Amino acid sequence: MPESKLQVIPLGGLGEFGMNSLALRYGDDIIVIDAGMMFPDAELLGVDIVTPDFSYLEKNAPLVRGLVLTHGHEDHIGAAPFLLSQVPMPVYGTAFTLALVERRLEEHEMLEETELHKVKPGDRIELGCFSIEFIHVTHSIVSSVALAITTPIGVAIHTGDFKVDPTPTDNNLFDLHTLAEYGKRGVLLLLSDSTNVDRPGYTESERAVAPRLEDLFVRSPRRLVISCFSSSVHRLQQIVDLADEYGRKVAFLGRSMLTTTEIAHDLGLLSIPNNLLLRPQDLMTAAPSKVVAIVSGTQGEPMSAMSRVAVDNHKHLSIEPGDTVALSARIIPGNEKAIYRMINHCARRGADVVYGSMNPPVHVSGHGSAEELRLVLNLVRPRYFVPIHGEYRQMAKHAQLAQHLSHAGLKDTFILESGETLEIDCEGARKGEPVPVGRVCIDSGSLDEVVEDIVIRDRRHLSEDGFVLPIIAINRRTGRSETPPEIVSRGFMSMEESAGVLQEARQVVMKTLDSSTAEERGDWGVMQEKIRADLKRYISKQTSRRPLIMPVILEV
Ligand SMILES: [Zn+2]
Ligand SMILES: [Zn+2]
Repeated sequence: MPESKLQVIPLGGLGEFGMNSLALRYGDDIIVIDAGMMFPDAELLGVDIVTPDFSYLEKNAPLVRGLVLTHGHEDHIGAAPFLLSQVPMPVYGTAFTLALVERRLEEHEMLEETELHKVKPGDRIELGCFSIEFIHVTHSIVSSVALAITTPIGVAIHTGDFKVDPTPTDNNLFDLHTLAEYGKRGVLLLLSDSTNVDRPGYTESERAVAPRLEDLFVRSPRRLVISCFSSSVHRLQQIVDLADEYGRKVAFLGRSMLTTTEIAHDLGLLSIPNNLLLRPQDLMTAAPSKVVAIVSGTQGEPMSAMSRVAVDNHKHLSIEPGDTVALSARIIPGNEKAIYRMINHCARRGADVVYGSMNPPVHVSGHGSAEELRLVLNLVRPRYFVPIHGEYRQMAKHAQLAQHLSHAGLKDTFILESGETLEIDCEGARKGEPVPVGRVCIDSGSLDEVVEDIVIRDRRHLSEDGFVLPIIAINRRTGRSETPPEIVSRGFMSMEESAGVLQEARQVVMKTLDSSTAEERGDWGVMQEKIRADLKRYISKQTSRRPLIMPVILEV
């Protein structure tokens, strides 16, 4: 006899930023909502991707009916290939979301064996005992949906990420009607996005950036470089339309920018007038006042197109005095240093840099503020409420926001952190048995390079292959390294064995230094990452070993 209770099992994204994933279980049926990743911070040096620990799903693999995706942001789909390689299951999502997933599956050569099902808002699917309706919501990425999940003991609503944009750029309105209908009929459980609960009032419409963007086109005397998230199709459309209006040609730069715009264009979500596109290699030869470059890499990621442009190391674009650079994106907490470093580089090259909070804004958030969250709470009027997507402080605030609903049928609110579960049956709701959760770190983004724990990985590398410590002295004034680097190693190879390799490795480091621009050399973060990557490649090719590599840069 299956137990007649609904279990809510957060696997990631509750109490932490990113890697959103949540499972619902009733009896012998489990569905998974989103499988997101998190970008590692500096302390996880050498790790490329962090995903949730999916061992609960692995343990219950025969019961898992499918993966349902709310939208295509990395923190919702980035871990899909890793989940699917452990627990194969059909995947459901809107066309744009699935196209982004397809690209990732292709990279891992998993596209063939994965069953993908396209859905539209208004569609309904059956997965085990769950019946799921997709509801259109507005968010910074197109084709976002909320889920109304009918279970044997009532309806659960999962909002995904949303804001309530009263004037979306594509005129595709948030389907508040359907949400309200469910509310009227009675909703057992609401799971709602807490990201912007700290902000009072309403988040501005995506259209609010139009005046500032237009101002850029009106006032920039020369080349215009705009960096934004490649998935922000609404934003891209506004920039493309302005370019058309003001007679500038558009060049897209960066791998993710190129693939995403191609996908959006193919699906009819991004319209680009004929003859508006410029090949990246023609950027520097076209008249500077007649071009706009749209570049990915808003967060100062060391290898991204925008970071390369900033340090004058991009094949197709150099910033020159009088150019205008705009960062049309949020500064994600934790990335401030890298972003401001990038802005400094652009400013030093003589560009006018536009970023951060300005009025009118150059960026607006895709997440609803307090009043929008309250609106959704009031429309849905759930019996139980679980705030999701946020750190503890945000979920706690979101819980407070729902308090007034105790007069409108709200029985209880639960703040769950990843690993804690909730169970609801006809008697009520309570916290249930915890499940094992955690972070899984993945090296080089490949499925077979999962490292269970970063400390364990470092120890393993140390114990098996030792460490290699390149020490580079850079002259503070010239930005040049005047002597060849020293390379110290321990536990790597015997002195005689390693002498030749390390001698050669010094040359590799020198080459990395020489091929870098002055700006890059002035940027320790970038140089450490470049040296580490080049040495790792060289050493593993020469010796098939993977020692821990920690470049040390000294200013002299
Ligand atoms: Zn999100
Ligand atoms: Zn999102």
